[in-house]
Amino acid sequence: MFSQDTTWYADGVMVDPFLLLILSSPSGAGKTTLTRKLQERFPALRFSVSHTTRKPRSNENHARDYHFIDRKDFDELVEREAFVEWAEVHGNCYGTSHAEIERARSEPGCAGMIFDIDYQGARQIRAKQPDAVAVFILPPSMIELERRLRGRASETEDVVKRRFEAAKVEIEHYGFFDYLVVNDDVDTAFNHLEGIVLAERSRRFRRADLAERLLRAGKL
Ligand code: ADP
Ligand code: 5GP
Repeated sequence: MFSQDTTWYADGVMVDPFLLLILSSPSGAGKTTLTRKLQERFPALRFSVSHTTRKPRSNENHARDYHFIDRKDFDELVEREAFVEWAEVHGNCYGTSHAEIERARSEPGCAGMIFDIDYQGARQIRAKQPDAVAVFILPPSMIELERRLRGRASETEDVVKRRFEAAKVEIEHYGFFDYLVVNDDVDTAFNHLEGIVLAERSRRFRRADLAERLLRAGKL
């Protein structure tokens, strides 16, 4: 159950803007770290659990971090059009299922979703949901990015190299995103993200329904 940190009532009707928040970054820039902090701060935002063919890391749990499946099952889901978006990233397949979004939308008190996906997925989601908010996390430097990739002890040298080389291609897509957040000091980066969520929730089109309901209530 979600805490009601975003719920407003007009005439006893819940008026909650549903926020789709996409977080992308080169691997190692700190997306997972920041996503966890965002979830603590905004429990009404549900983390979208993707499907992947990547093997789980030692600290990862099935269905909490990812739905870990093999390539055959992934291909079947693609065939059945079960994904809102999917892409091949660093040699593995990743996808967001329609079911994941529908589940969140039907959960009482759920005010939106956080998608930790790459730029290809961000593009596909935005094609279907143009009001999704897209944030790109930047590392403070490439040296620091490499240090963080190596610091994640679960990765082999080959994986670190492959992900570091891919970082430039990913950063080249920064122009697609609404916001760029630099993750140098993690608390500062988090403050920026928090500000983005609060501001986006207050956008006129997300609050217009409440305003209209208030006007109608005032006429009674
Ligand atoms: P991503 O999800 O983008 O691949 P992670 O959140 O897993 O990145 O972070 C990669 C590594 O960098 C982790 O070991 C994490 O603890 C560390 N890290 C994340 N943010 C910072 C930061 N601001 N300063 C130093 N280390 C960080
Ligand atoms: P990791 O293997 O480090 O968990 O993730 C590798 C990359 O895949 C990250 O850039 C992450 O954002 C991306 N990713 C994770 N899930 C999805 C997804 O469902 N769709 C897409 N397109 N990318 C994803």
